[in-house]
Amino acid sequence: MTNNINLQISIPLDDDGYLDRECPADACNASFKVHADDWLGKVRDEKVFCPVCGHTETSDHWLTEEQVEYCKGRMLQQVMPVVQNMLQKTARSFNQRQSPGGIIQMSMTVKPSRPIVVVPLEAAELMRQRYTCEVCGCRYAAIGAAFFCPSCGHNSAKSAFRETINTIRKLPQVKIALDTALERDDAANTYRLLLEENMGKLVGTFQRFAEATFEALTVAGSIHPRRNVFQNLLESSDLWEQAIGIRYEDMISMHDWQAIQRYFQQRHLLAHKDGLVDVSYIQKTNDAQYQAGQRLVIKEDDVILFVGLVEKLADALINACHKGNDAEG
Ligand SMILES: [Zn+2]
Ligand SMILES: [Zn+2]
Repeated sequence: MTNNINLQISIPLDDDGYLDRECPADACNASFKVHADDWLGKVRDEKVFCPVCGHTETSDHWLTEEQVEYCKGRMLQQVMPVVQNMLQKTARSFNQRQSPGGIIQMSMTVKPSRPIVVVPLEAAELMRQRYTCEVCGCRYAAIGAAFFCPSCGHNSAKSAFRETINTIRKLPQVKIALDTALERDDAANTYRLLLEENMGKLVGTFQRFAEATFEALTVAGSIHPRRNVFQNLLESSDLWEQAIGIRYEDMISMHDWQAIQRYFQQRHLLAHKDGLVDVSYIQKTNDAQYQAGQRLVIKEDDVILFVGLVEKLADALINACHKGNDAEG
């Protein structure tokens, strides 16, 4: 007796026809959306790219936790009558002691959820960024920066960078939306988490931007930077000097350079030390505001200042690369 049951379960879309997706890579688990028409028409079953981290996986691995729950529910709805029917039939010919669990077994793994910042819809809408791949036309969306086209994997770091800068500048509007939707303490708490999260997004988007800028250089083929080097300002400064003959320190003012380094180091503490200040942070930044053991306090002004600095450095970098390439040619 074979028990093959084919189930078709439709997953609901959002009002704009986008399908929610979640990256299966444990280090990422980013949520994003792909337009349903493009998910069906453009994205290939063999290979889907996570827009945030670039992880690739076959197309059946991108269900969100809610969708897994939803599918389980729908599956039971569809399977139970079949199971009951089968049980009735098999009861006649099968040993009565046969346990129902032996007939159909279903399993689905649900990833443990990591803490995520839950923001009210209106605030989330302000932070949502939509993209259309400049190569294949696939439409996708993410809260915050996304770099890779889910369909063709094209790295659109440069346009994503500008988008992200503009979105982060909307944070004060997000604050207003939070204050309207939530209790005061909840609003303050959520906003604090959002500010910290956006420090990370800013470094992430700058990193992708710098990578893409570097890859476009004629000399890039002969230099092989280590992974994540562009998260580290000093180390990547060495790299630029090697490639185009100028360091970050010489692209912007000393004051800006010190400030941007401090924010990069703060992002490092938030990402790897739960935001706790350590001796190494103080040695690297000379930040007199803190002592080792204290917790960082990220304010809205800091993030807005950081956005301005990152944009300034990115523009200076583009200029320097043009000059470098002109000199070469
Ligand atoms: Zn991912
Ligand atoms: Zn594409």
